[in-house]
Amino acid sequence: MQQYFINRKTCVGSIEELDKDTLYHLIKVLRKNNKYIFRIVDSDKNVFYAHLINNYQCEITESLNENNELDTDITCILSLIKNDKMELCIQKLVELGVKRIVPYKSVRSVIKVKDNKKKERLEKIVKEAAEQSHRNIIPKVCDYADLKDLNKYLSEKNYICYESEKNIAEIEKSKSITYIIGPEGGFEDKEYQKICEMGFESVSLGKRILRAETAALYMTSIIVGKCQ
Ligand code: SAM
Repeated sequence: MQQYFINRKTCVGSIEELDKDTLYHLIKVLRKNNKYIFRIVDSDKNVFYAHLINNYQCEITESLNENNELDTDITCILSLIKNDKMELCIQKLVELGVKRIVPYKSVRSVIKVKDNKKKERLEKIVKEAAEQSHRNIIPKVCDYADLKDLNKYLSEKNYICYESEKNIAEIEKSKSITYIIGPEGGFEDKEYQKICEMGFESVSLGKRILRAETAALYMTSIIVGKCQ
């Protein structure tokens, strides 16, 4: 069932105005009418059923007691990789349950970012993936980060995925976990050292060298498996 977010609290019986993207999607793309029931998630993460009452408003008809969020807050610091791969990876990270994505301007990232336009595009992808996967929140896309910014994103447990590491990632259940994935060319040695000094534990994802996007999805799956 289709889901949309609204950025305010609501309750059963309320009439809510929908934003233009939501209306466009419901009416023009899906060609739905007043009979169609969809999900609305409000700013308090509450889920409701709703239906259109005209071409710009819906009525909230039923409250669902539903929490699809993980107990663990996962932050993925993802080095900038080629745009299409970055976008697909972020979409999948949201489906898997990640709460925060930090696009990281790693020393060897070939992709360079000048303005926030790309962040807006990532936010759109995140929102649509959150709707599609019935999340209770829209995960946050943080500002593009440099090495010096990474300590802002430390969690209870912190990992750097490093292909030359021998210790296989053994993830302990915790309230919050941050992990870092390097770019196509991997981490530069000094960069890797500095990240470890910040408190990130170096872990291996096995003997094979994974593409950055595979590594991010694999690491998230391991965490979700432990922390579901
Ligand atoms: N430096 C490598 C090279 O060019 O052969 C590859 C880097 S890999 C494509 C991109 C990132 O994925 C790495 O920086 C690391 O974070 C992660 N990664 C890939 N395979 C991994 C593994 N087996 N264990 C841990 N991390 C891995």
